[in-house]
Amino acid sequence: MSGLGHNSDEIDFKKIRSEFPILNKKVNNKDLVYLDSAASAQKPKAVIDALNDAYLETYSNVHRGLHWLSEQSTFKYEEVRKKAANFLGASNSNEIIYGSGATHLINLIANSWGRKFLKPDDEIIITIADHHANIVPWQLVSQQTGSKIHAVPVDKDGNFDIKDMERLINKKTKIISVPHVSNVLGTVFPVKEIARLAHEVNAICIVDGCQGAIHLPVDVKDINCDFYTFSSHKLYGPSGVGVLWGRLSILQEMPPFLGGGDMIDNVEIDNSTYADPPHRFEAGTPPIAEVIGFGAAIDFVQQIGMKNIRDHEQKILKHFTKKLKEIKELSIIGNSSNKSGVISFLFDGAHPHDIATILDQKGIAIRAGHHCAQPLMKHFNISSTARASIGVYSKEEEVDALIEGLKTVKKLLG
Ligand code: PMP
Repeated sequence: MSGLGHNSDEIDFKKIRSEFPILNKKVNNKDLVYLDSAASAQKPKAVIDALNDAYLETYSNVHRGLHWLSEQSTFKYEEVRKKAANFLGASNSNEIIYGSGATHLINLIANSWGRKFLKPDDEIIITIADHHANIVPWQLVSQQTGSKIHAVPVDKDGNFDIKDMERLINKKTKIISVPHVSNVLGTVFPVKEIARLAHEVNAICIVDGCQGAIHLPVDVKDINCDFYTFSSHKLYGPSGVGVLWGRLSILQEMPPFLGGGDMIDNVEIDNSTYADPPHRFEAGTPPIAEVIGFGAAIDFVQQIGMKNIRDHEQKILKHFTKKLKEIKELSIIGNSSNKSGVISFLFDGAHPHDIATILDQKGIAIRAGHHCAQPLMKHFNISSTARASIGVYSKEEEVDALIEGLKTVKKLLG
């Protein structure tokens, strides 16, 4: 891939779209309209080629291999660690831990840091808008440690008010774990301010960046959080891999989460010593080709520039919101002025699952359900929403196709 440019005047989003072979598909005899990128993004040729190349040219297990293939494989695998650090604005690639995805990596923090440092009556603060991946791990650890969980609400438009969080913070607060961007509301959370509040009471601040790093430039030094995690498959990379950035001084204090090969220093039958971070947290054979593919995904978005991606997506989102607001039967769930990536909506007289099924007949892929955010659904007194989500390849014509599709929904169900 070349010539995608860095200056927004030169960015050719048509060309970028042509890098995604699957988008030329017909689904149900119609041109595919893919509006489900928040669940998982499609893959550009560069990523598919990198995966193929990893298997065709350099595949072998990583680390400690003395032969050429293993050295090549290890080199490529470790280069991605540097790319991920650079992508997140971190200066030390030893602060990047690979895992199977954000779910695994939040569980890692909960089980490692949480089980070591949380005491009875300590408090964990999350938000009502969190994905189950940033709720259930904290429940599991709080059941083991006797700590308590509090969730900061959002208002009827999905806005987060930092004062609501301030009211919950006290000396017992040990962890504040928040989404960068809500996968239902699209609300962008003020993570820098949240990190500052956490540090005022010596709590750690974790950012679930699954819906953040894919839409916005991220600089963990500027946010000044302690952990930031996201999954490759939402950033146009392969599934089965994600990264956690963690502050080295904190990682060094943390015990392993999973035990096995590659995470040790010395093993006796009744005891072991462990490798330094990041390897301490990476037991077993990793998804080698997928990590290499993830590196190609990072190159891909960096060639375009995350600021340019954000600007392009904001344009689509604005058009989307305007068009949806013209439909009187439709209400948008999540009307924050600072939104990114997703639009959830309800349609009078039509269940979200029926909307998704009717749109699918027209080749339009959206998602319907609780989006792994049941507490948020309950907060809004609903059981599900329809959700359209966009990516770097999205175009206004796709928004218009969905709006046309909603006319059929209205005819059939409204
Ligand atoms: N957090 C958020 C905000 C998400 O959107 C998702 C994926 N839907 C996750 C966490 C979990 O990501 P994964 O399934 O890749 O582990």
